[in-house]
Amino acid sequence: MSLFPEPLLFEASRPGRRCTRTAGAERARATEGLPASELRQRPPALPELGELDLVRHYTRLSQKNYAITTNFYPLGSCTMKYNPVVHEKLAALESFAGLHPLQDDGEVQGALGVLFELQQILAACTGLPEVTLHPSAGAHGELTALMVLRAWLDETGQTQRRTILIPDSAHGTNPASCTLAGFRVVSIKTSDTGLLDVPDLREHLGPDTAGLMITNPNTLGLFEEKIAEICREVHAAGGKVYMDGANFNAIVGIARPGDFGVDMMHLNLHKTFSTPHGGGGPGAGPICVTAELGKYLPVPRVVEDEDGYRLDHDRPHSIGRVRAWHGNFLVLLRAYCYAKRLGAEGLRRVAENAVLNANYLRVKVHQKWRVPYDRICMHEFVARPKSEVKDQGIRTLDVAKRLIELGFHPPTIYFPLVVPEALMIEPTETESKETLDSFAGALNQIADEALQSPEILTGAPRNTPVQRVDEARAVKDPQLCYRCS
Ligand SMILES: *Cc1c(COP(=O)(O)O)cnc(C)c1O
Repeated sequence: MSLFPEPLLFEASRPGRRCTRTAGAERARATEGLPASELRQRPPALPELGELDLVRHYTRLSQKNYAITTNFYPLGSCTMKYNPVVHEKLAALESFAGLHPLQDDGEVQGALGVLFELQQILAACTGLPEVTLHPSAGAHGELTALMVLRAWLDETGQTQRRTILIPDSAHGTNPASCTLAGFRVVSIKTSDTGLLDVPDLREHLGPDTAGLMITNPNTLGLFEEKIAEICREVHAAGGKVYMDGANFNAIVGIARPGDFGVDMMHLNLHKTFSTPHGGGGPGAGPICVTAELGKYLPVPRVVEDEDGYRLDHDRPHSIGRVRAWHGNFLVLLRAYCYAKRLGAEGLRRVAENAVLNANYLRVKVHQKWRVPYDRICMHEFVARPKSEVKDQGIRTLDVAKRLIELGFHPPTIYFPLVVPEALMIEPTETESKETLDSFAGALNQIADEALQSPEILTGAPRNTPVQRVDEARAVKDPQLCYRCS
């Protein structure tokens, strides 16, 4: 055997030319039977690079990413908390990652056990005993729950109940899910305390009411103090209460929505239970419902009997499947590990610290920023530029761009809609005092700059690979070519 195998496969100096007998024979085989007019005459002009150049290219690209592993991410409503690295290692274990969803129940008792126990944990946290882990995200959980509600209404002969009431501060997914599930949406006002306007709710309750969809704590970061009364009113009118649980981070381990009258809710495991998210997924949006509604949940359900765990498909009242297989299993596994490691006490501390951190930030910035509902908040708060800043022609978008220049991911902006020019800030429980101080310092510096030299803000960001883009156009007319001129 010769020391150097023949032939050399690549001629790197001649782009596109792979000049070997093997390649030629392979090409002939691959193109056999294809019409000649459809065949490429010349090889495509692909970039040809040495390994080192390639590795450097991708390493540099990855360094342009802003990520929770490198910096603070105060996105209100999105709960960008730290995801423990050990969870990634656990989720990558061959014994979990290598499972196939078609394996027999008997071969996957451990995995089914994880799902079953996670259901129990979520039931214990919410006070709602029946759980499905299937939905892939919060919005998917909303839709699933509304389908459950529809199934209950239809079975109990209440087909005239087709209206869902939703506060005007709600996340956009709430009305979207209602429409998708075939309900009419009626908007309920937010009172000047930042809470649901109960008289307005009362006025809209009626024989057509299917239910209320309410976020608690709400998107202004405030706890709906009258939630028990609100639930009683909706129930008295014959409807059910759905709670959007995206903000459960603030009350986990402290309050159980089932206790204050909620009938159904979703949990965003990728928010409250510390599994990675961003860039659109994967996530998990389990829903928890009352015993009465349990029979409508999607199939298959994970159940335990004398032989162990099994998947139960035999649920005649079920709305059916809402996705393939059994949910985003590895996301569910991370949430399970998170809850098991913290325990009930630890989860309570999460909520306490999330609330403490948000209030710390609020008080650090509330002199230089207008905080419309400036009182003890939950895990997040909403601020906006003061009117003097607006008079300088500065908008919240400029503030966000200047934050990027100073090294921070901007908070959520222009949401909730009930606060014009909103900056919605959520620090989460996993950030240090040093990080919170430096972020508050940057925000306060920006408030000063806006008054003294507004052009600093309007010209930002200057230190990023891409400066200001027309965001609407970037979505509708993306430039995706290699080396666009
Ligand atoms: C994130 C969020 C949702 C939607 O959840 P997804 O998991 O992104 O689908 C719904 N409501 C509120 C208040 C949210 O913050």
